[in-house]
Amino acid sequence: MIIILDVDASTEELERDLHDKGYVVHTLKGDTHVLLYVMGDTTELESRALNAHDGVVDVIRTKEPYRYVNRPLPKERPLRIGKRRFSEMTPFIIAGPCAVESAEQIAKIAATVAKAGAHALRGGAFKPRTSPHSFQGLEREGLIHLRKAADEAGLYAVSEITDKEDLSFFEEHVDIIQVGARNMQNYDLLKALGKAKKPVLLKRGFANTVEEWLLSAEYLLMHGNPDVILCERGIRTFDSATRHTLDLNGMLYAKQITELPVIVDPSHAAGDYRLVEGLSKASIAAGADGLMIEVHNNPFQAFSDGAQSLKPKRFEKLMRAITAYTE
Ligand code: PEP
Ligand code: MN
Repeated sequence: MIIILDVDASTEELERDLHDKGYVVHTLKGDTHVLLYVMGDTTELESRALNAHDGVVDVIRTKEPYRYVNRPLPKERPLRIGKRRFSEMTPFIIAGPCAVESAEQIAKIAATVAKAGAHALRGGAFKPRTSPHSFQGLEREGLIHLRKAADEAGLYAVSEITDKEDLSFFEEHVDIIQVGARNMQNYDLLKALGKAKKPVLLKRGFANTVEEWLLSAEYLLMHGNPDVILCERGIRTFDSATRHTLDLNGMLYAKQITELPVIVDPSHAAGDYRLVEGLSKASIAAGADGLMIEVHNNPFQAFSDGAQSLKPKRFEKLMRAITAYTE
């Protein structure tokens, strides 16, 4: 880390502070500025706090603020979903309705997405909806329907957790625990999921930077869960033509920093079923490790996110279309 101060600023107090914290500091005095080169693990130092010192003009990080997400993945302990290695299933395809609406609905969709080649069935049971008047999900009953439908179709089950009190119920009923965009920075939940016995799918918040997203993954890893899958799901931009803007830059940038798998959710990014196949092809061609796609047998009747849900036939077409980019 490099701390830049005004040339006439006193550096003694800052140097002493840093020294007391165990850092080695080299000081270089120039004509207009003084530079403090701070050596050691500076992940704990907050640029903002350093900026508050008298005379500090700028703080430049020369290293990324991560200790865990940028490490090579342990070869001896590969990520497994159920009993299978994740790497044997890429691109890993998660498909299903936004929400579990009934036992019949989820069973029907499970059968169709399995036939089309999906690996996992999604379905929200605890739905964090923008409006409290919207459908909130079937909660635990929904997870039971999801598990049964997934088992009957030979699929893994994925669902979103919103409260750490439900963790053991999730561990029993799903193969991957999803953290939604709205909870990406719910640090209490992340710490609890660090202790979870199941892999976590961490969606990027729609107003969060890649660095914040990776720091949320850092919480999961640091608290003991090495099994993390990242999911880019679109960010909020100035353009309201589509629901969000799929940030493939962010997906690729994340993959440069971490070896954790990164998948893409084009459904929430677009908010429009017509864009989903194209965005899926682009994501897989760019190197995403998988996709999460909303599929509904009757999108017009869907309790949530019908406009972005694919009918089974369109999902089958998407699955055929992406094979061109996977070889
Ligand atoms: C979802 O996957 O149904 C969902 C609510 O997504 P997000 O958290 O990305 O908005
Ligand atoms: Mn949804």
